[in-house]
Amino acid sequence: MRPIYFVLVIVVAAGVGLLLSAQTPRAGAAPADRDASSGVEQRVSDLLRRMTLEEKAAMLAGAGWMETTPNARLGIPSIKMADGPMGVRSWLGSSAITTATATTVTSTAFPAGVAMAATWDPVLVEREGQAIGQEVKALGRDMILGPTVNINRVPLWGRDFEGYGEDPYLAGRLAVAYIRGVQGEGVIATVKHFAANNQEFERHRIDESIDERALHEIYLPAFKAAVEEAGVWSVMNAYNKVNGFYCAENTYLLHDILRKQWGFRGFVISDWGSTYSTAGTVNAGMDLEMPGGQAMRDWLVKPSTQRDGNGCGWLTPDKVLAEVKAGKISQAAIDQNAGSILRVLFASGLFQKQHPGGGPVDTPEQRAVARTAATEGIVLLKNQGSLLPLSAARLHSIAVIGPNAAVARTGGGGSSLVRPKYAVKPLDGIRERAGSGVKVDYALGVSMEGEDAAKDAPAIREQLRKEAAALAAKADVAIVVAGNAASIESEDFDRKTMNLPAGQDELIEAVVKANRNTVVVINAGSPVAMDRWVDRVPAILDMWYGGQEGGNAIADILFGVANPSGKLPVTFPKKWENSPAYGHYPGTNLHVAYAEGIYVGYRYFDTRNVEPLFPFGHGLSYSKFDLSDLRIAPAQVAAGAPVDVALQVRNSGSRAGAEVVQVYVHDVKSSVDRPVQELKGFRRVVLKPGEVQPVKFTLDRGAMSFYSPSKKEWVSEPGRFEVRVGTSSRDIRLRGNFDLTAGGK
Ligand code: BGC
Repeated sequence: MRPIYFVLVIVVAAGVGLLLSAQTPRAGAAPADRDASSGVEQRVSDLLRRMTLEEKAAMLAGAGWMETTPNARLGIPSIKMADGPMGVRSWLGSSAITTATATTVTSTAFPAGVAMAATWDPVLVEREGQAIGQEVKALGRDMILGPTVNINRVPLWGRDFEGYGEDPYLAGRLAVAYIRGVQGEGVIATVKHFAANNQEFERHRIDESIDERALHEIYLPAFKAAVEEAGVWSVMNAYNKVNGFYCAENTYLLHDILRKQWGFRGFVISDWGSTYSTAGTVNAGMDLEMPGGQAMRDWLVKPSTQRDGNGCGWLTPDKVLAEVKAGKISQAAIDQNAGSILRVLFASGLFQKQHPGGGPVDTPEQRAVARTAATEGIVLLKNQGSLLPLSAARLHSIAVIGPNAAVARTGGGGSSLVRPKYAVKPLDGIRERAGSGVKVDYALGVSMEGEDAAKDAPAIREQLRKEAAALAAKADVAIVVAGNAASIESEDFDRKTMNLPAGQDELIEAVVKANRNTVVVINAGSPVAMDRWVDRVPAILDMWYGGQEGGNAIADILFGVANPSGKLPVTFPKKWENSPAYGHYPGTNLHVAYAEGIYVGYRYFDTRNVEPLFPFGHGLSYSKFDLSDLRIAPAQVAAGAPVDVALQVRNSGSRAGAEVVQVYVHDVKSSVDRPVQELKGFRRVVLKPGEVQPVKFTLDRGAMSFYSPSKKEWVSEPGRFEVRVGTSSRDIRLRGNFDLTAGGK
């Protein structure tokens, strides 16, 4: 009988936050790397001792598009990866290859990261991570390239849909949840892209100047939480340069911060083609270059790879060994990097047992997670005159219109786009929910810009618009499903404008003119401009990219089967010119200065009093929630001690629903410039009609601190702090104070 290993992964946060694993002993003597009773560190050093320099060097680059280099002599397995984060993407080649039908792997398409962030529900995000981890294993892979935690600095960023929004605290909580879900399944999670991949424009060449406070307060906290709290096993470096150095050879980021300050003990993986040197990269602690082998060589010579400025092929064994020989890389550095990969292999249990595959994907349970997530993420932006929810019993006809109505746009474009087995179109979801008693008619209204050149012609556009308006005029209610597409909002390029694609504003104007009962559903991953029609359209929903269940989810919300509870994880500016990064993006001469510093998202809008279209944290419900009885204790607290915040939430409406209680902290007097308020706690509370629930938060030192570049640490200054509790950054319902006294830590 084969021995059974019980893998217990313990993340030890003490000291440098070591990753260790302990297993039940196996009978008989075995080399330490095979002996399940040895601690991880012991096993790593024993194995390194038995490896030749050549064998170690061979580990520093991949063997193919998505596999690390195995070692048959020593039984070191290859780590098999798959792209994420919204599900398991086919790993069979670069984007162009994986979208071809012949090589397609199908799996559950979960909602985009921004939609997951709009749930403000870490418990759900952890379940999503767990479901994805299970699918990774079922498909015979070991590692998922997610989550993406880059901050939405610019509403035009092509990958805004992929991350968790503009706030580092929210992004951090969700990153920790996702990683725990994935790694709890023994699958390696990869937090990416370290750091500050906030634009696609010239992503391989751009040098970003980011001041230290902005780095530590805005762009790094989600990574820090992923390392310190979730014990993430892998970190992917970003393509761009930060403060003069490529992220793959950025000693400040990879050594000083990631390893020394945060105690990271896993391995750093390059983004695909983000390396530009041999010694500089190895010495900075960038452990694993991807892709590798023939796949890398084939890809590197492609004109598109060269045009984009991808770098790769620097950590091939011949190049690494030549640099060792030349004295530019030490053997210790090689041990360090190869050891990081081995450590994760042991800690995750993958060294002993790889995932054979052949398991079920897209199971009913996984579908249920995808559907709950798609539903919880939908944000009700506006609902004048309670047009929503629709009542199937009272309606006779609905006109469903728009370029995103009769097609399921599950995600944005690029490496995150998952191919599901099925995907529900909004039109189908609405038909199903409306039932046989309601006539549901459909009109395209306008073709998605660029998808069909013939339909983009002005005369055809006008004709399609007229048909749609005529249909709307005859119906009780018109629903326009507008938005972007994977061809417009994608990795590799940024959007040129915040406007909806051509013809969509005109369509919405024509439909609402024909029928006052118009609902606009936005199906996109980032804020879109609505100034042309926002005042005239009574009801607006944002369904983001909802994954394969998006069509069912939006129908449930429209008909009130589900009560909307999503909240914006990004501020919607009225127009791009109002954004803090406007004027400091996309940079010139391959350089961009993050001149707005820490004033990203609501930190800017709220501090500088700029009226947004919809504020951060905003989202309506079909019910009503009251917040009361705020208690803050103690009234005076020594630095380092926690502060308790308690209140009551009551559902005073007539439907069951959920409210996301948000806690913002305002530092009344500070020696440095600080945003007027910052999110430091949130809780999604589910309540039946009439139900009251107590909610408690603990504010720790982090809730009161700012990063001091001179002291190189987080500092909390004595003085008064105001606690603001509300349901968006602009809907503060309760306020209270506490005083931080000198003393303590
Ligand atoms: C993306 C990564 C992705 C990798 C592998 C890169 O272009 O930036 O997020 O994981 O490709 O597909």
